[in-house]
Amino acid sequence: MADSSTPSFKAADLVIQLSSSPNTKPCDVFSFGTVFTDHMLTIEWSVTEGWQAPLIKPFENLSVHPACSSLHYGVQLFEGLKAYRGDDNRLRLFRPMLNMNRMCNSAKRACLPAFDQSELLECIRRLVETDQGWVPHSDSAGLYIRPTFISTEPSLGVKKPNHALLYVILCQAGPYFTNDAEALSLWADPKYTRAWKGGTGDCKMGGNYGCSLLAQYEAVDYGCQQVLWLYGEDHQITEAGTMNIFLHWISEDGEEELATPPLDGIILPGVTRQSILELTRNWGEFKVTERYLTMSQLCCALKQQRVREIFGSGTACMICPIGHIVYQGENLNIPCQEKDSQLTLRIAKELTDIQYGRTPSDWAFLV
Ligand SMILES: *Cc1c(COP(=O)(O)O)cnc(C)c1O
Repeated sequence: MADSSTPSFKAADLVIQLSSSPNTKPCDVFSFGTVFTDHMLTIEWSVTEGWQAPLIKPFENLSVHPACSSLHYGVQLFEGLKAYRGDDNRLRLFRPMLNMNRMCNSAKRACLPAFDQSELLECIRRLVETDQGWVPHSDSAGLYIRPTFISTEPSLGVKKPNHALLYVILCQAGPYFTNDAEALSLWADPKYTRAWKGGTGDCKMGGNYGCSLLAQYEAVDYGCQQVLWLYGEDHQITEAGTMNIFLHWISEDGEEELATPPLDGIILPGVTRQSILELTRNWGEFKVTERYLTMSQLCCALKQQRVREIFGSGTACMICPIGHIVYQGENLNIPCQEKDSQLTLRIAKELTDIQYGRTPSDWAFLV
């Protein structure tokens, strides 16, 4: 854990070199993650010199040694969060310290150096402020923030890096949750595993995502949009694509329950997941549980019509209802609630009201 004694860069040392040719701000819908803002944040580290001063500079390509261990061995990690422009025209981040904290946990797992989380958040705040013109004027879009931390160790030895680079880039993120969005279809086949006990599934490390691609394209071949990741002999339900998963149902005990798998090392600890748990526990209207859920429990509940809704959660889409699961040759139809009783709509509204400043909350961090 980073604390005040952790050697770290300081936001007070930040150097800002502004671009002499900022781009116009494209607001049209384009493919996510392809158009980046004018500036980036970079912070270099080496074992001999420690952390260098943070730098905001015009967006540019990196130059890394071809033997760099992030390229060869995946010694790297990333984060994902968004800046939202409120109705009051102020910019807000959503619980960003949770991302900073998760980033430090991933760094520890990747043998990358620790840093002070609030110093990084302040540097990110300054970057977003620098490129604030890029944050869409929309209450359904935002600016996606991608902190990245890579080893720049210029040697082929499989070892703890002596050189690293932490950088942050920004791009516009289009509208996500819309009321009439099609419910997702998922392909569930236990032959692929996203994460395993003792592995890195609870960290945002690139390797977790690169090795999911083949399954993702197989899901598409089977006419589905995403993979439902199963685990173990009992086909535990773990995550949907790159989202955490929630089941709203009447449990085996006849109780209304919102359930999601526990953080046992194979689940990515999502900020949205945590927020949904806290929000709905606070309502106190039904049981909210972190528990194991298996495909056979789900199939049984579907047969007995005990399932109300299944949805995925994550920063990208916030909440995404799931409509179908293809499992062992069967197309399982997941019911959806009537529009006005939909849990997904209610949660999405409460969360977006905080993100866009309509409901005051200490979950919102003003830029
Ligand atoms: C990022 C991510 C999530 C969602 O996390 P949020 O913090 O809510 O965006 C869920 N599952 C996986 C595998 C992820 O990479």
